[in-house]
Amino acid sequence: MSNKRKRYILQEEEIPHYWYNIQADMVNKPLPPLHPGTKEALKPEDMYPIFAKELCHQELNQTDAWIEIPEEVREMYKYYRSTPLVRAYGLEKALGTPAHIYFKNESVSPIGSHKLNSALAQAYYCKEEGVTNITTETGAGQWGAALSYAAKVFGLEAAVYQVKISYEQKPYRRSIMQTFGAQVTASPSMSTRAGKNILTAHPNYQGSLGTAISEAIELAQVTPNCKYTLGSVLSHVTLHQTIIGLEAEKQMEMAGEYPDVVIGCFGGGSNFGGISFPFMRHNILEGKKTRFIAAEPASCPKLTRGKFQYDFGDEAGYTPLLPMFTLGHNFSPAHIHAGGLRYHGAGVIVSQLLKDNLMEAVDIQQLESFEAGCLFAQAEGIIPAPESCHAIASAIREANKCKETGEEQVILFNLSGHGLIDMVSYDKYLAGDLVNYALSDEDIQQNLDKIGDLSK
Ligand SMILES: *Cc1c(COP(=O)(O)O)cnc(C)c1O
Repeated sequence: MSNKRKRYILQEEEIPHYWYNIQADMVNKPLPPLHPGTKEALKPEDMYPIFAKELCHQELNQTDAWIEIPEEVREMYKYYRSTPLVRAYGLEKALGTPAHIYFKNESVSPIGSHKLNSALAQAYYCKEEGVTNITTETGAGQWGAALSYAAKVFGLEAAVYQVKISYEQKPYRRSIMQTFGAQVTASPSMSTRAGKNILTAHPNYQGSLGTAISEAIELAQVTPNCKYTLGSVLSHVTLHQTIIGLEAEKQMEMAGEYPDVVIGCFGGGSNFGGISFPFMRHNILEGKKTRFIAAEPASCPKLTRGKFQYDFGDEAGYTPLLPMFTLGHNFSPAHIHAGGLRYHGAGVIVSQLLKDNLMEAVDIQQLESFEAGCLFAQAEGIIPAPESCHAIASAIREANKCKETGEEQVILFNLSGHGLIDMVSYDKYLAGDLVNYALSDEDIQQNLDKIGDLSK
């Protein structure tokens, strides 16, 4: 047996005790979210009706760099953490690159993706505050599955609005949520005002994350003892995901390496921020020069082609106004198979970091993403989620650059989830039925013109 070590795993007692809040270390803090009615800077209390109080405070906390992980949440993290840091020898060989490629394997969580890291935290805080019911939306179903399980763990009732097209195309994610005891409704539905409004205007609407969010918030507001939870975009969600990067930091140390490039796929920013921020802190505080790349789909390019402005997080305009890179809350992306990346905006922290050139973004076409996913599957034996394929494609681009220059760069990417419940998408790719989507600058601009300046 060679002494080339393949996987790095932490003991249970080495699982981090704190999450990392990058807001405390940012030189330019994110602009404040605005109250949609008064247009004044949002205070934690303004969000109490919607989210658990502790999460409202985490959301706007710009002073504490370290936030303690509650013991009950750490206990549940032990069910699947640490996740392995893996040296991708197979992929390196397939590419013939001198680069050292590592991936953090979040697909080993019970529900198959990183989403459980925040679901457990959010359900825990709700339980602590005496909440009995939680609502949420889900696109591809990963977040809904994570939340349904987390609700069960902490004895809460969960109601999930699933975007209609994936409710129909991904029936197994629905069954997973139902197996964990959640109530699942296809969105848009007639059960809320937001759903009724959009169905009246567009009877065949296939749904979007924005609409499903509106429905879930509305249900939380009219149900006693009920809070809403969100699986991405918001700063507290990314905070919980920093467990990924904090573990990876220790594991890279075990491997005796430090990343030159860190990559994550990008929907709302939680897994990208989760793997990146703990390393980015060394760029901010110690002048390290690691590059950070967010890989988004070309059909939903808010970071590479969107505009930085105040916008709503949902279709109906129930959320606070967030300062972010956006394509407009009314943007309706093409039905690509990476459902978790079909969101119109980026989180406020990442938006500020991109504006300040502390990170980069690339867009990846659907076919390149699946090609990368198949190569990875054949080289490493894990079928990646269609979302994760975007990070893999970006890592492959970087590794190929190293092949040209001969540089032995250290590339780390996050494998946000596995694709075993997304085989319908792979079927379509293998049958040659998937296409790339072109989005014109005019389309993007027209959509942004429609929403105008919301901060005034
Ligand atoms: C939800 C999801 C994403 C995208 O969400 P982020 O908040 O940007 O991380 C990526 N990968 C998988 C597997 C997901 O389930």
